[in-house]
Amino acid sequence: MDLFFKPEKIFEFLQIEITTKCNLGGCIMCPRTYYGGRWKSGDMDMSTYLRISEAFPYTRYIHLQGWGEPMIHEKIFEMIEIGKEKGCRVGFTTNGMLLNEDNCKRLIELDLDLLGVSVDGATKETYERIRKGASFDRLMGNIETLVELRDSSKKNKPRIVFSLVKMEGNIAELPLLVDLAHRYQIEKVVATNLDCSNRASDERNKVISRKRNPFHEKIVDEAEKKADKYGIEFYSYPLLLDETTPVCGSHPLETLCITWDGSISPCVNLSLPVDVIHRMFCGEEFELNPLFFGNVNEESLLDIWGKEGYMEFREKFALREKVGEPHNIFADFFNLKKGMGKTELFRKQMEKHPPPDVCKTCYKRYGV
Ligand code: SF4
Repeated sequence: MDLFFKPEKIFEFLQIEITTKCNLGGCIMCPRTYYGGRWKSGDMDMSTYLRISEAFPYTRYIHLQGWGEPMIHEKIFEMIEIGKEKGCRVGFTTNGMLLNEDNCKRLIELDLDLLGVSVDGATKETYERIRKGASFDRLMGNIETLVELRDSSKKNKPRIVFSLVKMEGNIAELPLLVDLAHRYQIEKVVATNLDCSNRASDERNKVISRKRNPFHEKIVDEAEKKADKYGIEFYSYPLLLDETTPVCGSHPLETLCITWDGSISPCVNLSLPVDVIHRMFCGEEFELNPLFFGNVNEESLLDIWGKEGYMEFREKFALREKVGEPHNIFADFFNLKKGMGKTELFRKQMEKHPPPDVCKTCYKRYGV
């Protein structure tokens, strides 16, 4: 190989679902709980993972998680090692129950770059009500061990991120979670949303909406100020649905999702391991089939990325992104009717370039 050849990075990251199994017993907002027996449980074969790894030279970061708990995959450490050897940054999100001392040591030795930990409540009561089968005390004990081992190893990896899915039943604890992060020396707190809504209870639980909610905004604001004071990085996904979001937060133009059996999809919301996805959006029910453009066990990942149907899917978002570029806004500025604001103009432009049909009823398409 030419020593000076550096492959162009095509993917900002690849989301690799190494398992759809989980060691917990049914978190209240998890689609796995909702689908029950319809959920296809499986672990990714090493042969599938090696096929995917052919794309690692073109990838900056790999996230070894989809719908499942990555730490129950018996080959997870080997998978991390392969990703690191091929020059990717590697991370995953975990419920943290299996972060015992041995596992923490191995993650540190392997130079894992990022570890997201799901902490959907800052008190034992809230956390265990939402995360059925998990133990708050065990989680905090495991985090403490991980941080101690990392610090004594003199490494600054993995970077640990606390992640909370904002819901009616836990949003009030977001500022407390920032306090916890400070206490356990966590670098970042991310507050996501319940954007994959499958059942009526998800709709009642979610805090994202078309209308502003000053109470929720105030809580997020308070958490942000605390994080700022502690020097903790903080990001809360918006609460308000925004029609004019050019590209959804799954970043389908620069990433993709590979399911446990090697199928390629633009995102986890379209790759749920079921035959029919039951989706709720703004109180309405929809049914759709998962969307796959190929399987890495039959074609290369790059070939699938270049398929016509997949390119057409991305092109819809690419056009929306283009509309949002400043020179395009100004090009149309002279066509403004008197009194029409920039937001309205932008909205009209976006209406001309709708996203793919399967995205129209997905909360993430609205920037939350
Ligand atoms: S809008 Fe939703 S369904 Fe469409 S690509 Fe983004 S996350 Fe996936």
